[in-house]
Amino acid sequence: MLDVTGISHTYGSGAKTHTALGNITFTVEKGEIVCIVGPSGCGKSTLLRAISGLMPPSAGESRFMGNPIKEVPEDLAFVFQEYSKSLFPWLSVKGNVAFPLKARGMARRERRRVVEEALSSVGLGEAGEKYPWQLSGGMQQRVAIARALVCQPALLLMDEPFASVDAQTRAELEDLLLSVRREYNTTVLLVTHDIDESVYLSDRVLVLCKAPSTIVATIDVTPLGPDRDQITTKETDEFVHLRGEVARLLRYGHLDEVDGHGVPVEAIAE
Ligand code: ADP
Ligand code: MG
Repeated sequence: MLDVTGISHTYGSGAKTHTALGNITFTVEKGEIVCIVGPSGCGKSTLLRAISGLMPPSAGESRFMGNPIKEVPEDLAFVFQEYSKSLFPWLSVKGNVAFPLKARGMARRERRRVVEEALSSVGLGEAGEKYPWQLSGGMQQRVAIARALVCQPALLLMDEPFASVDAQTRAELEDLLLSVRREYNTTVLLVTHDIDESVYLSDRVLVLCKAPSTIVATIDVTPLGPDRDQITTKETDEFVHLRGEVARLLRYGHLDEVDGHGVPVEAIAE
């Protein structure tokens, strides 16, 4: 689905430069949820912009279904952290969600059906006539997710999508994402600085280090199984173990002992 090869990025020119991304290579398979976790400021947003065609990287290439990405592909959707800036305040909830469909010329009746379906799948079936400013932060982010889903994107990129809502809403939105993935079979690449979130949502976690950031390890989270629960999954030994591994990697950049789940840094570097 997505092949990222040797992406690096340096901001600025002359004496004032900042290399945000070192040399980043990874793939995302169809149907996977991959989380990228890294400290604030390490270059996570830069990475999403650089691989999606929003911004040309200094070096490297990303391919989407085999084709080099030069501009944002039609089949790719974005959800950003700042929902309050990403919705159109002058459009109703339905108007916001219908916007990309209208731009693609979908007929009105079909549009209405698709919008209603997307809104009910994010639990907003009753809120279509409201305006974004009449909704809570969590509801606004649901609208942004519905708008990303209506086009049935092959790949959904999410940049700290749940970082600006309270803990309870965050848990609900994480579960919403998992149910949406089951319903639409969407492939998701999500960046976060939250260790628990990365393990809870993922099939695979890629751990980034501080700038110039590179992937220090890939953690396979499939042992947790496809069905997750905010309380019982997080109580399992497996979850506790995996979150410890991610935390250790974020802090030290390597695992002291490799015990079957984490891939050592040396192996990744090859
Ligand atoms: P993250 O999303 O992981 O918090 P960012 O990708 O936003 O990190 O930023 C990585 C680094 O690049 C930071 O040091 C930030 O200040 C810098 N940076 C981000 N965007 C720009 C820009 N447009 N111009 C210059 N520096 C930038
Ligand atoms: Mg960011």
